[in-house]
Amino acid sequence: MKKHITVAIDGNAASGKGTLAKKLAEYFNYAYLDTGKLYRASAFLIKEKNVDYEDVQEVINIIKEYNFYDFNFKDNLLKSDEIGKLASLISGYKELRQILLTYQRKFAYKHHHDKFGVILDGRDIGTVVLPDANIKFFVTASLEARTERRWKELISLGQSTIKRHVEKDIRDRDKRDSNRKNSPLIASQDAILIDTTKLEANAVFLLAQKHIEEYLLT
Ligand code: C5P
Repeated sequence: MKKHITVAIDGNAASGKGTLAKKLAEYFNYAYLDTGKLYRASAFLIKEKNVDYEDVQEVINIIKEYNFYDFNFKDNLLKSDEIGKLASLISGYKELRQILLTYQRKFAYKHHHDKFGVILDGRDIGTVVLPDANIKFFVTASLEARTERRWKELISLGQSTIKRHVEKDIRDRDKRDSNRKNSPLIASQDAILIDTTKLEANAVFLLAQKHIEEYLLT
């Protein structure tokens, strides 16, 4: 059996890619990085420092100074609609992506004690961050299914929110993430496509698990 592999998981907002990545990381004992958190943390810092997100230079100055290696933001601070939207607004900045790219690659290629591989999930992992990943998944679901999931997630985090607003936020984010010039959300040609609209999280996991096991046996 091969020992160390890299797995790239991309997909649009609330497609189930994070849940899948976490389950696979736990099952196969891989190190896991949710790269969306880096963009959300950048957004959080900008909001906290009251910086205008359109002031690209100021945004970059803040991000340059932040030590992502000491990253310790709590999920409930980062998971709001507002932070997700701001993250997507600044994620088109080339220099910001470059800073985060360096961090993501270091994570992917460093030695993780006792781990047999790494999994990164995001929007451009299979295309830009790890184009040589051993296995790539591209996860999608209908807008309706994704809205329902994100809405439930926000409620479970104690955030009061209206479904209609969640749907609009997801639709806007899909559009921005897919149409931006730098590293748009796009399936890598060699990615395995998984539509999670009608699948429970465990069924998605079993499907992906099978692909990884097949790869490990080759
Ligand atoms: O995945 P998540 O919803 O947490 O990502 C928040 C935002 O960060 C996305 O809408 C996207 O604009 C940006 N992002 C990105 N590239 C990644 C991960 C996230 O542009 N690899």
